[in-house]
Amino acid sequence: MNIHEYQAKGVLREFGVPVPNGVAVLTADEAEAAAAKIPGPVWVVKSQIHAGGRGKGKFKEAEAGEKGGVRVVKSAADAAENAKLILGKTLVTIQTGPAGKQVNRVYIEEGSEIEKEFYLSALVDRATSRVAFVVSTEGGMDIEEVAHSTPEKIHTFAVDPATGVMPHHGRTVAEALGLSGDLAKQAGSLVAKLYAAFTAKDMAMLEINPLVVTKGGELKCLDAKISFDSNSLYRHPEILALRDETEEDEKEIEASKYDLAYIALDGTIGCMVNGAGLAMATLDIIKLYGESPANFLDVGGGATEEKVTAAFKIITADPQVKGILVNIFGGIMKCDVIARGVLAAVKAVGLQVPLVVRLEGTNVEEGKKIIRESGLNVIPADDLDDAAQKIVKAVKEGV
Ligand code: GDP
Ligand code: MN
Repeated sequence: MNIHEYQAKGVLREFGVPVPNGVAVLTADEAEAAAAKIPGPVWVVKSQIHAGGRGKGKFKEAEAGEKGGVRVVKSAADAAENAKLILGKTLVTIQTGPAGKQVNRVYIEEGSEIEKEFYLSALVDRATSRVAFVVSTEGGMDIEEVAHSTPEKIHTFAVDPATGVMPHHGRTVAEALGLSGDLAKQAGSLVAKLYAAFTAKDMAMLEINPLVVTKGGELKCLDAKISFDSNSLYRHPEILALRDETEEDEKEIEASKYDLAYIALDGTIGCMVNGAGLAMATLDIIKLYGESPANFLDVGGGATEEKVTAAFKIITADPQVKGILVNIFGGIMKCDVIARGVLAAVKAVGLQVPLVVRLEGTNVEEGKKIIRESGLNVIPADDLDDAAQKIVKAVKEGV
């Protein structure tokens, strides 16, 4: 689960991490009042959406002005003016896709005088099963580009969970960022606090870009992006309360109500599969035959007919979907349950696109019989290879 920048900074502040003061607001009047309470002479008006690249983003509406989604202003009135210009407007950044995202909230923050901009992130490194930090002097920029063209400028290290952050980790960061004296000390303390926040809140990713050195000689987190491990949210009600459903894909919200593992993708073939591994293989093979999946969907092991019906409805409701591939290897999951779920969904919402069904395993004959006798225009398939070729062909030929 992702949260907004202002919320992320709130979480980090609780752990003593240095972040600028700010207030999140919904209207221009609130923006002016908020700015009046923050000592100037510079303020920053920041669009709150679940996507990065806001600074270099562009608004779809011309009235929002030429400047991007992060604006440095010189007075409280100017803060209000800019909040008014961008609230309700659609910001397009390299992470939002061409549709952009509507800015419903802005964050009014005290401005910082930047001396240097760095990059720092922490994530769960699956190779070492540890929390790893990534630091670079090349902050404020596209870190993927830095990793690609100048990999020597990126430093990574993992933290042993038995010891936690040690003084040498702080020295590693300070050295990587070229900091000495008091700033090196601040770097050590920062890494310890970020690690504490990361582990206490079960974060999956924490990105500070930029981490800055101010002209006053302070290390500060000017931006913060956090995603939490969704499987841990049951033990963090205070984090779950930060969820903003307006930022999430509607189909994913619907899927989460039925406890379906569903991720929207941007292709044309809707997939219903059981088991994450088989689902991944299904996405791969669709790609191999020249089309792209519209989603990842794992209906799970013991899915009920109701759950399968909900899953099928979510797939068919997606206007991007030009064909559907049902690929079930029945183990715990029974093929007849899948067949009945598909039928119930088709009865409720109809079927406008070609459907290929590949069933194998427990109760396969019964499942096939249900589909065969349904009168539905289903294209049967014998194995995954056959199924993928058939659905790609059907979508390409529009049959
Ligand atoms: P992003 O573009 O979505 O990653 O948003 P950021 O929060 O990183 O802001 C974009 C850029 O705005 C930063 O890289 C900074 O260069 C600049 N910026 C943000 N806050 C301040 C500030 O307080 N003072 C100044 N001078 N620039 C800022
Ligand atoms: Mn940033």
